[in-house]
Amino acid sequence: MREILLVKYGEIILKGLNRNKFEDMLVGNIRRAAGDEWIASVRKSQAIIYITPCEGRDIDALATRISKVFGIASITRAGVFEKDMDTILEKGSEYVVSFMDNVKTFKVEAKRSDKKFPYNSPEISRLMGGAILSKCHRLKVNVNEPDAIVRVEIRDNEAYVFSDSAVIKGHGGMPVRSNGRATLLISGGIDSPVAGYMMAKRGVELEAVHFTSPPYTSELAKEKVVSLAKIIAQYTGGFTMYVVPFTEQQLAIRDNCPEEHLTIIMRRMMMKVTEKIAKKNKSMALITGESLGQVASQTIEALSVTNASTEMNVLRPLIGMDKEEIIQIARKIGTFETSILPYEDCCTVFVPKHPTTRPKLENILKSESKLDMDYWVNKALEDTEWIRIEAE
Ligand code: ATP
Ligand code: MG
Repeated sequence: MREILLVKYGEIILKGLNRNKFEDMLVGNIRRAAGDEWIASVRKSQAIIYITPCEGRDIDALATRISKVFGIASITRAGVFEKDMDTILEKGSEYVVSFMDNVKTFKVEAKRSDKKFPYNSPEISRLMGGAILSKCHRLKVNVNEPDAIVRVEIRDNEAYVFSDSAVIKGHGGMPVRSNGRATLLISGGIDSPVAGYMMAKRGVELEAVHFTSPPYTSELAKEKVVSLAKIIAQYTGGFTMYVVPFTEQQLAIRDNCPEEHLTIIMRRMMMKVTEKIAKKNKSMALITGESLGQVASQTIEALSVTNASTEMNVLRPLIGMDKEEIIQIARKIGTFETSILPYEDCCTVFVPKHPTTRPKLENILKSESKLDMDYWVNKALEDTEWIRIEAE
């Protein structure tokens, strides 16, 4: 018996006249995530994408491969049957009962786009209900509040039978690339990978920038960030990560600026470097994992002073979330276990004993004037390398 996948999408439905464009992006992203030689054909009809796998491909494996694509609300396996009522009732009921282990009550909803089919929708529903009951005696029909809805669709060339008890939930959101490109400042911590996931979920295409401070930060610390980026790429598809050696810059800040301003000046310099990388790549915003009040550099005053270092929009999707909520998402998306591996980050290498928590821009600018900011920003750009990140 053949099976197909039915993909339902959420928010795209609201897109009115642009819907087609968003659907095409979603289909493109699904094809990319599945990989060549997995999908034989794709058809869109009435807010459902019908995916036929290539010969010999495991349907569950295909569902797993595409399950992290943003824009997908749910994925359902469906059996494909010959358009013959006896076959549909006999084989279709057997198929669908195999997905109803945890179901006590059900109802059947039938739909026929082929109006010449000799049974109308209520008749199909009634007959299929009977066939299911005779296959599985513990099941009961409940038309008002069923545990599962079994659907029979009579199309032009074939019939589909499926149950919403066999649904895989998607991650929702909008297709990646439908909402521009932004540059994620990624560390090895818990927060920034979650921030990247959240913005990508809104349709943003990512690129990433990571600062290292060798030899204060190790090769393993960098590998950890690469691993995190690869997990994010499972959702977004591949992207580029720029790795910026930042040791000399941090030493210059330490040697020239007041100690209590080290962190905030370093963060401003990071923003300036990232802004230049972003502009070169036509990226439209920066993304950080900052959350209000979490540490000294994330007070409202400190965030304002950091913001003033760039003219680009800084997206901070975690700004109003507390750590518990962030950790919950990190666990759900699979980054948490990697994030808590104990490697140093360049931000934690030179930490002032008493960082300013309520910095004033004019004071920071005065401290910063002891540095040749442009020189150090350009030097960082010259030393920057890039890595192509692909999902593993
Ligand atoms: P995270 O959990 O993301 O590391 P954090 O709570 O440790 O965040 P900070 O260390 O103050 O907070 O960093 C704030 C933000 O600055 C991070 O979320 C990230 O976006 C960015 N950032 C920090 N360190 C780096 C780094 N080494 N490379 C690139 N961006 C960084
Ligand atoms: Mg950190």
